[in-house]
Amino acid sequence: MSYNTHKANFRRFTITAIDTRTTKRFLRNPERFIEHTIEEFTRTSPLNRLEAFGNALIFDKPLVGFADGDDPLFTEFKRVIAAEHFTPREILTKYFTETLNVKAPDLPAVSVISFILPINPETSRTNAYETEGPSLRWNHTRWKGQEFANELCRYLIEILESLGHHAIAPEISPFFRISRVSDGFVSNWSQRHVAYAAGLGTFSLNEGFITRRGLAHRCASVVTNLKLEPSPRLYMHHLANCKFYARGTCGKCIERCPAGAISNKGHDKLKCREMLFEKQKPWLEGAHGPGYIGRYAGCGLCQTGVPCEHRIPVNKKRRLTEDALKKGK
Ligand code: SF4
Ligand code: SF4
Repeated sequence: MSYNTHKANFRRFTITAIDTRTTKRFLRNPERFIEHTIEEFTRTSPLNRLEAFGNALIFDKPLVGFADGDDPLFTEFKRVIAAEHFTPREILTKYFTETLNVKAPDLPAVSVISFILPINPETSRTNAYETEGPSLRWNHTRWKGQEFANELCRYLIEILESLGHHAIAPEISPFFRISRVSDGFVSNWSQRHVAYAAGLGTFSLNEGFITRRGLAHRCASVVTNLKLEPSPRLYMHHLANCKFYARGTCGKCIERCPAGAISNKGHDKLKCREMLFEKQKPWLEGAHGPGYIGRYAGCGLCQTGVPCEHRIPVNKKRRLTEDALKKGK
């Protein structure tokens, strides 16, 4: 299995035929096979590089987790996020019926593959020095990183399809929607909630997602009809990795936010959005140097220069379940 890059094409890789050895590796341990596929693509893809910064890596080695698509947590997300938030089974069924034209798909298993792409610490360091808006390198990471994450999803889908399964990446599918609600915006597929279901981390005061590699990252996911073993969720509760909720201390992200969008009560999406789309417009217009790209500059100040930037800032006793502690996790 290999891929080539052809920049002019929408898909910048071609998958050579899957050989018997690769198929055997997949059948022996599909979870490890998928993890390895994601890691290798991230390590070797030229798209995971910042051309404007000496071809530095955009993302470090990813974290990968799996969830059962029929986990009741996904139904609970309809209450917590929005009624239109898809369960994995709903979106996969939609893909079968509307894209593949299969009228009554038989889906004995539905699984979710979620991955966290930790931002190169060198990039976070440049952003940690900033106090009003993002560094140029952070801005490039925001947009080039999203392109890479999308490409990684497409690659994973093609690999799974070559192995006889079907898969969809909800965020880059025609079914993805973002709608306006009273306190901001809501999407019908939340990558962070999916990552939580896949055991990859917990939420935080600034509405980020703290993993064992911290909260300076991007996340993505793919839904498939392949049966995969779900990853354990070892945390005590959905906010266990944030020092503010675990110990009542910290709040460093409150100080870091130039919009005053974070308080003891949480994250104000509208204030944050106003900062991103209005107040930080001058960054895109060249007021802080040339070369900023994208629809908005990126910000991320509350994810850098904070104790949870690269790690979980809470000790194991306070964040892990009894079971996890016994197993020495
Ligand atoms: S800076 Fe502190 S309070 Fe804010 S998200 Fe990180 S751990 Fe939680
Ligand atoms: S992204 Fe920027 S504006 Fe939004 S909460 Fe974080 S620091 Fe504040």
